[in-house]
Amino acid sequence: MAIYDLGNYEGLLAEAGAFHGDICGGIRIGTRMTMCGLRHLGIGDPRGADKKKLMVFVEIDRCATDAIMALTGCRPGKRSMKVKDYGKMAATFVNLETNRAVRVVPTDANRRPTADGGEPDLAKMSDEELFRVLDVEVPLPPEDLPGKPVRRAVCARCGEDVLDGREVEAAGETLCHPCFERRDYYRIRA
Ligand SMILES: [Zn+2]
Ligand SMILES: [Zn+2]
Repeated sequence: MAIYDLGNYEGLLAEAGAFHGDICGGIRIGTRMTMCGLRHLGIGDPRGADKKKLMVFVEIDRCATDAIMALTGCRPGKRSMKVKDYGKMAATFVNLETNRAVRVVPTDANRRPTADGGEPDLAKMSDEELFRVLDVEVPLPPEDLPGKPVRRAVCARCGEDVLDGREVEAAGETLCHPCFERRDYYRIRA
């Protein structure tokens, strides 16, 4: 049975929940997002036979991302998952073989309480009800793909290595992004 068959939902939910630590709303919707994305791409076995075919872009660093990671096998460390920290509940699934890609965005149907005020049962809802699905194109230069680093540069200011073309050329200098932008996520303690 392909991963996107609705009959798989409870089993996949249990797997995603085990990876995440509990079955919360984000794990529920993330499980269904994964099933929906893979159905549109015709990928039925992302952790087995279709292992090399899939890349996922997630737009939030929350629970749903754990579900997508657990069920697709895509990981940042394998370069098959890209985390865009936009704070948006959305994910784009790319079939690397066919170049087809879909961006899956939940509608508010999964947050609408039932008539008696309970949580909606996603198992009873269709992909069409739960998601907006957009056919998209995702440009993937070689430096974004899995495999050995395509390039290694050295930042002229901090002296640290920068892999995969993430360096910036500015005024004849090769710089890493934080040095170029003159800001970073940390401050050195005085
Ligand atoms: Zn959670
Ligand atoms: Zn630097």
